[in-house]
Amino acid sequence: MRLIDHVIAGGGPTVGGRRGPVFNPSIGTVQAEVALGDRAVLDRAVAAAQAVQGEWAATNPQRRARVMFEFKRLVEANMQDLAELLASEHGKVVADAKGDIQRGLEVIEFACGIPHALKGEYTQGAGPGIDVYSMRQPVGIGAGITPFNFPAMIPMWMFGVAIACGNAFILKPSERDPSVPVRLTQLMLEAGAPEGVLQCVHGDKEMVDAILDHPAIGAISFVGSSDIANYVYQRGAANGKRVQAMGGAKNHGIIMPDADLDRAVGDLVGAAFGSAGERCMALPVVVPVGEGTAERLIDKLLPEIEALKVGTSLDPAAHYGPVVSAQHKARVEDWIAKCEAEGGQILRDGRNFTPQGHEDGFYVGPTLIDHVTPEMDSYHNEIFGPVLQIVRAADFETALSLPSKHQYGNGVAIFTRNGHAAREFAARVNVGMVGINVPIPVPVAYHTFGGWKRSAFGDTNQHGMEGVKFWTKVKTVTSRWPDGSAEGGNAFIIPTMG
Ligand code: NAD
Repeated sequence: MRLIDHVIAGGGPTVGGRRGPVFNPSIGTVQAEVALGDRAVLDRAVAAAQAVQGEWAATNPQRRARVMFEFKRLVEANMQDLAELLASEHGKVVADAKGDIQRGLEVIEFACGIPHALKGEYTQGAGPGIDVYSMRQPVGIGAGITPFNFPAMIPMWMFGVAIACGNAFILKPSERDPSVPVRLTQLMLEAGAPEGVLQCVHGDKEMVDAILDHPAIGAISFVGSSDIANYVYQRGAANGKRVQAMGGAKNHGIIMPDADLDRAVGDLVGAAFGSAGERCMALPVVVPVGEGTAERLIDKLLPEIEALKVGTSLDPAAHYGPVVSAQHKARVEDWIAKCEAEGGQILRDGRNFTPQGHEDGFYVGPTLIDHVTPEMDSYHNEIFGPVLQIVRAADFETALSLPSKHQYGNGVAIFTRNGHAAREFAARVNVGMVGINVPIPVPVAYHTFGGWKRSAFGDTNQHGMEGVKFWTKVKTVTSRWPDGSAEGGNAFIIPTMG
């Protein structure tokens, strides 16, 4: 059985230790094993990171940026192979896997501009002979703990900015699809990053806890489900680390009566069912405003859903593939049953769905459920599968209050032709990322990504200038070069600029 091993500077292959299975969700078989590391493995990675970090931080930012340019070139040159590898472990279709890689590369493009982003501030003449300047210095050793659903994009969100800022970085990807993170680490070395600047360690809770407790790691970025995000945030922060921890989501799509329905329906179907609904920016809840809007919406949605093709991740005709594991398939099907028991009306049922010839794969068919209400558990919780719930709202204010009151606050979208309604919605909704006629409002790399409420713990977002702030510490220097003529002040009172 192929072993997916840690990538540690100077480290040989792992001998002994725990291992976990890596499935091909399209056919339901184990295709590799991944090493599950512990504190001893992490200690080796940290020692290698410590050995190189000072030299890397002292490398001028333009040279660090050149490594990023070369990394981008190498990833692009390997795009097809990486996308197929990603699809084979995650289950998303190859075209979507390319999107996963591309969105990560856009953060690398941002990181190519790091010399500009790291420029500090300067005040000349803050007082007599006094100048003040600030600089951003790397945190030191950073770590990233990432989820299964974007095994290329999310690691690149983190290490792209962290490394460009002069940190050494230890990546702990999801143990369910670890091969692409390994390849990205190898390509970063090939691109010219010194050994130890980017390393990849694998594992489960044991490795995560080792990272959270390691005294030499200064900053931790986490993306995953909310309970674990909260745990990571609390334990990391209690250990004195800087922590940002992104959690789960339940994003709403509001359909106003004046929306361009044909377009909105196409957008909705892609956002609800693309990647089998396993995106934190998916739209698993649609809120038609007014009964007439609801009826027209359902009439248009049903045939679009009927036309969806679910197939293996390598099937070029498939709109989406399997979910990630047999356990997750069972969980999604349980939520469908629960929603039905709570009073939801199933218009399209994706349970017990098996594409012919792939009976052992982890497939869930597209599911549409009407008359879902805010009191239901199945509305309150994240399902993370190809399930679209319809919550009918009588008016704009009710529609606005639904995502605003929900426990999650990652993304939301409104579909309308009314500029005033859109503007009001964007200003008042209690959610971190808003789309106006844009179903998946993942901000571009030079802006910043982050939700509100239980979708994010900590206060600094991913990538863009927020990312630069997270991965650096500010140092402010106040300097005085007197010409010798000025009289000294009273040294016993707090200095002021008069
Ligand atoms: P997950 O929480 O199960 O795993 C995330 C990471 O935590 C993995 O690296 C895993 O090894 C580790 N982990 C798992 N159990 C742990 C435990 N008990 N203690 C410590 N660490 C543990 O998440 P997932 O299933 O891989 O990913 C899907 C989730 O991620 C969804 O909830 C989704 O909404 C969320 N997500 C959020 C964002 C965002 O930016 N807000 C983006 C993508 C995914």
